[in-house]
Amino acid sequence: MKAAVFHAPGDVRIETVAEPSPPGPGDLLIKVTKAAVCGTDSAEWDHGPLLARPPVVLGHEFTGEVVAAGPENSGFPAGARVVSGAGISCGRCEWCAAGRTNLCASYQTLGLHRDGGLAELVLSPASICRAVPDGLDDVGAAMAQPLAVALHAARRGRVGPGRSCAVIGAGGIGAFIVAAAAALGATPLIAVDIAEGRLGTAAALGATHTVNAERQDAARTVQAITGHEGAHVVIEASGAPASPAVTLTMVRRGGDVVIVGLQPRPSQIDLFSVSSREVGLHGTLAHVCADDLGEAVSLLARTSLARTVLGDVIPLADLVERGLRPLAERKANGKIVVDVQGSA
Ligand SMILES: [Zn+2]
Ligand SMILES: [Zn+2]
Repeated sequence: MKAAVFHAPGDVRIETVAEPSPPGPGDLLIKVTKAAVCGTDSAEWDHGPLLARPPVVLGHEFTGEVVAAGPENSGFPAGARVVSGAGISCGRCEWCAAGRTNLCASYQTLGLHRDGGLAELVLSPASICRAVPDGLDDVGAAMAQPLAVALHAARRGRVGPGRSCAVIGAGGIGAFIVAAAAALGATPLIAVDIAEGRLGTAAALGATHTVNAERQDAARTVQAITGHEGAHVVIEASGAPASPAVTLTMVRRGGDVVIVGLQPRPSQIDLFSVSSREVGLHGTLAHVCADDLGEAVSLLARTSLARTVLGDVIPLADLVERGLRPLAERKANGKIVVDVQGSA
């Protein structure tokens, strides 16, 4: 079968590899229809391996049809359309017992630690898969995993009705976070970015206000929109080095800051402000299938979110030049989805 194999920095090859072994207990063999790519994939290609253990088939955002189920099947018949979560957890450790499966002591991610979905076939545990309703097409379903990540990040900051929210960085995962925060009832919902195109997308996804940080003082504007108290929740999704410090100028007393964007180096922030104003400072990692994946599927099925964020649908053969490279160079416009079965 054809697969996108990550070998080394700058070396992702579309090549013919052996098909996965028959599904073991609890596993599904899935014929992948569409797989989306994100900054995690492009970072591995550009300057990895970071988390990946090459050689490995990339792809942690994918949807497809069940070809075969192993013993102890969970009710997905052959032909069923499914989305898969990305992380495999043990179900037995302290974190799994607490429902925090994304922090599992032996967490493994498809497409990084095990062969993923940028391939014609992939094995995934049925326990991390969810059915795709008829009203949701494959391109939309391929976005369920990143939307689940966004829902998890928003929940880490206790986004909800009656709470204002500012999202810094409205491209990539930030666009999904704006959509997730809107779905969870955040208002006002303020998107901060430096690109008008991304701010336009954020408005279409439910942002009530957009702030161009190149033209406006972003912190002052967020203060003005929130009655000069600051936002209840500030979510940093840009990864820009100066951005974590800015979050503390936007968040109100007793509010929550969530750091989503991965910082390449230690970052200076005003911890006096964190202590004296009881700001909650939260990390966030991946998603919890049980909490986030089904909700992501239903949100995609009932809204135009996928159409709004979609940038390009490309064949697998073009993964590097039209997928990983524009993502790494921050030139990608919208979400890139790979038509895994389509011929180039
Ligand atoms: Zn991703
Ligand atoms: Zn575990």
